[in-house]
Amino acid sequence: MTTATPPHAFWLAGREAVGDSTLDVTSPWDGRLVGTVSIPTGDQVEEAVAAAAAAADAFPATPAHVRAAALDHVVGRLVERTEEIAQLISAENGKPMKWARGEVGRCVSVFRWAAEEARRWGGGEAQRLDSDAGGTGRLAYTRRFPYGPVLGIAPFNFPLNLCAHKVAPAIAVGTPIILKPAPATPLSGLLLGELLAETDLPAGSWSVLPVPNEQMPSLVQDERLPIISFTGSAPVGWSILDSVPRKRVTLELGGNGAAVVLADYSSDADLDWAAQRIATFANYQAGQSCISVQRVIADTSVHHRLVPRVVAAIEALRTGDPSDPATDVGPLVSEEAARRVESWVEEAVGRGAKVLTGGRRDGATYAPTALEGVPADTRIGCEEVFGPVLTFTEVDGEEAAFAAVNDSKYGLQAGLFTHDVQTAFRAHRALEVGGVVVGDVPSYRADQMPYGGVKESGVGREGVRFAMEDYTYERVMVLTGL
Ligand code: NAD
Repeated sequence: MTTATPPHAFWLAGREAVGDSTLDVTSPWDGRLVGTVSIPTGDQVEEAVAAAAAAADAFPATPAHVRAAALDHVVGRLVERTEEIAQLISAENGKPMKWARGEVGRCVSVFRWAAEEARRWGGGEAQRLDSDAGGTGRLAYTRRFPYGPVLGIAPFNFPLNLCAHKVAPAIAVGTPIILKPAPATPLSGLLLGELLAETDLPAGSWSVLPVPNEQMPSLVQDERLPIISFTGSAPVGWSILDSVPRKRVTLELGGNGAAVVLADYSSDADLDWAAQRIATFANYQAGQSCISVQRVIADTSVHHRLVPRVVAAIEALRTGDPSDPATDVGPLVSEEAARRVESWVEEAVGRGAKVLTGGRRDGATYAPTALEGVPADTRIGCEEVFGPVLTFTEVDGEEAAFAAVNDSKYGLQAGLFTHDVQTAFRAHRALEVGGVVVGDVPSYRADQMPYGGVKESGVGREGVRFAMEDYTYERVMVLTGL
């Protein structure tokens, strides 16, 4: 489809290029055209992969100060352009401005950490081998080297920061990357390309290509891209791993995050805090975060005092225009997504669940919703809702609470409201998740900490240094005669 304004170019081996077709990006809030994006042809994708492969040897040898300076440059530009970039995220994704600004801030943190890690990365380690007679006079020296160019595939829900989590660690270790942003939100990833293009990174070391989904299987299969770092839905992620079992694949997938409120978290102030956090983080970004609160699991002694507080806090949220600074909850990414959430709630209600608040759809907007009595075998009861809906479950005691958290095919993060440090350690041991957040909701993420899931929530870890480790492997050199 053609439009009056020229389409946004994509980034092919560090330079602007246009293809022979386009994709319109529209606002989920009001349907207006936010931008038109040029789509690469098959030949252009091939050119980008060939350039990445050609850069694979030279890029790791680029001095750390050059890569760190490029990362620092992006930090500076993100800070300078925060408001404008937040507006772009909000326009293409429907994310309220307050959360969009937060996303730019998170992206700053990712690039800042990557710049710091780039400066200290790769010094290597020496290990004496003479603890056994056969190793007398020998020393093992190990350094990490990149596997090769990375294919980074990003979802729509953090269109800037989840691109950053692919790109910044790649620059920090000096491995080329081809970034593929989500079709609903390609503009933020392309903007990141604009900032990278202002740096001295070598040509060929990076591309940002809005490749259509139909063309992705051949890119995934391409042997010149030995690393795939994927963030997105579980079905797509696992199908990628199944299709390339010999590649190194990191999967950051979905979840149905649990917030547990235990018996000792019982003062009015405790429950007010827990309710506030639960209501906010079940609904921020309209529930479209992999670590949103979906399941509230409360001890029977606090459950009945917690529920009305959460419902009141949900009803105090402002739903509406994402560009309004006062808006807490905007639309979902599309009307189709909101209709899916609506049908899942209808299914649960048809099976006996009770709507405590919400349960209404208006276009792409779904009202923040709380349900109780949801049967475990409904879709809301066992899948990732990825919408502004939470469920309440009452349990008797800590063990039952931990069992309820683990009664899920997902395992990304869990939140645990307790003051008891012993309980916190027991939870850390018992919960089948990639992260336990004590004193808060599962939705807390700092960009430098290891982040990722177990079970169907994925494999591998992000968090700047952890992604750098995932992109590289330890190679040992044994020195003899020392
Ligand atoms: P999605 O799986 O539909 O798409 C993710 C990306 O994969 C997009 O760029 C898409 O174009 C691409 N893609 C689609 N088909 C492909 C194929 N066959 N081969 C290769 N790539 C393909 O996910 P989404 O709807 O964009 O994002 C929402 C999902 O992402 C949710 O499940 C959410 O929980 C998950 N998520 C996980 C994390 C995490 O870190 N664990 C973070 C954010 C989002």
